[in-house]
Amino acid sequence: LVDTSYDRINEVDDQVLAFLTLDEEHARSQAKQLDAAPDTAARLFGIPSGIKDNIVTKGLRTTCGSQFLKNFDDPLYNANVVEKLNNEKAVTIGKLNMDEFAMGSSNENSSYMATRNPWNTDHVPGGSSGGSAASVAAGEVLFSLGSDTGGSIRQPAAFCGVVGLKPTYGRVSRFGLVAFASSLDQIGPITRNVEDNARVLEVISGHDKMDSTSADIDVPEYTKALTGDVKGLKIAVPKEYLAEGVEPEVKESVMNALKVYESLGAEWEEVSLPHSKYAVATYYLLASSEASANLARFDGVRYGVRSENSNNMIDMFKNSRSEGFGEEVKRRIMLGTFALSSGYYDAYYKKAQKVRTLIKNDFDKIFADYDVVIGPTTPTPAFKIGEKVDDPLTMYANDILTIPVNLAGVPGISVPCGFSENGLPFGLQIIGKHFDESIVYRAAYAYE
Ligand code: GLN
Repeated sequence: LVDTSYDRINEVDDQVLAFLTLDEEHARSQAKQLDAAPDTAARLFGIPSGIKDNIVTKGLRTTCGSQFLKNFDDPLYNANVVEKLNNEKAVTIGKLNMDEFAMGSSNENSSYMATRNPWNTDHVPGGSSGGSAASVAAGEVLFSLGSDTGGSIRQPAAFCGVVGLKPTYGRVSRFGLVAFASSLDQIGPITRNVEDNARVLEVISGHDKMDSTSADIDVPEYTKALTGDVKGLKIAVPKEYLAEGVEPEVKESVMNALKVYESLGAEWEEVSLPHSKYAVATYYLLASSEASANLARFDGVRYGVRSENSNNMIDMFKNSRSEGFGEEVKRRIMLGTFALSSGYYDAYYKKAQKVRTLIKNDFDKIFADYDVVIGPTTPTPAFKIGEKVDDPLTMYANDILTIPVNLAGVPGISVPCGFSENGLPFGLQIIGKHFDESIVYRAAYAYE
């Protein structure tokens, strides 16, 4: 499997551009060792996997897609999720491209290269886990890990025609995930089908004493939920998720999916999530505020590349950050710093926190009467490279259907649900209650 993975990478990665770093020598020798002493009890025995480059891997370069960390060649520890994959004998093939510090929706904010959509290389793979989705879609690895702060697993999964799940906030340890917005970030699996996804989540979930926000509750066997039975399942379809801005082709594919559910004995009804319209504004305020604090650690002293053109310490901080960060990261740091400043805090940050609660309450109300919420993952299929890159607001607006899920902390999956006229995939988004990934998988598997 590991040989096949590198063969495929050699064949297609110069067009897909998914990998920032390969770990070939180590992976091949690990595969040999595994061959020599097969451990069939290991749940991911010998499975080739890719890891998003904001998840720390011991001894393997971890750049977060940023020039600031281009010299971070030798991290001293593994993220909790990487330890868990290693314990189950998965093989890390390499590190996957991403928008710098996970800020973006197209991979064009990577400071190294723009990953391509394997279905059509003129189009973006989505972001920020674009390398993670493209590598699975292109058959380079059997699964990858991504991170999702406002849609970064589900949106690229939708654009690349693969399955991506953002777990409930707290389901998976964030220890070793380079923080973007700590109250929203979650790591999750990207796979070719729902069963693989459930298998990987079973491995990476669970409490970790190194992450105080990881929940100390049992991890169910998600694969047990894959029965194909959705008889009596109650589906809520928010009218805001099929409103203006959502392309007719996307709507149609969601309506077709709902017909499939009806034929399987599930019931659906239109509902309202009235505060959805504030989600994009709320998210960009909160995520940028948290990012401005989290990224303060990159000062050229403790981490990353230090500017060489400075005569004193303050200039050294300033120049290192000015030279090391890209445009989008600087935009977010400035926006977040402004929102957290005294005199503005109540008007922006505190207000946004209140709206976040209203968005969460919208979901709680719906989940009192329904099992899952279903809608599209994105309003459009993958757009062209260069199409939105100079217009941040249009780029942000593309996240409208994924962001509410992060603000509420609930789990959400994207599964492929059809193709546009020009052959690009769409995703169906299925959202569940807190810690009810099982029902999300059950619904996704029955449809798939
Ligand atoms: N596209 C969103 C952003 O730019 C989401 C990114 C993410 O989930 N990491 O912030």
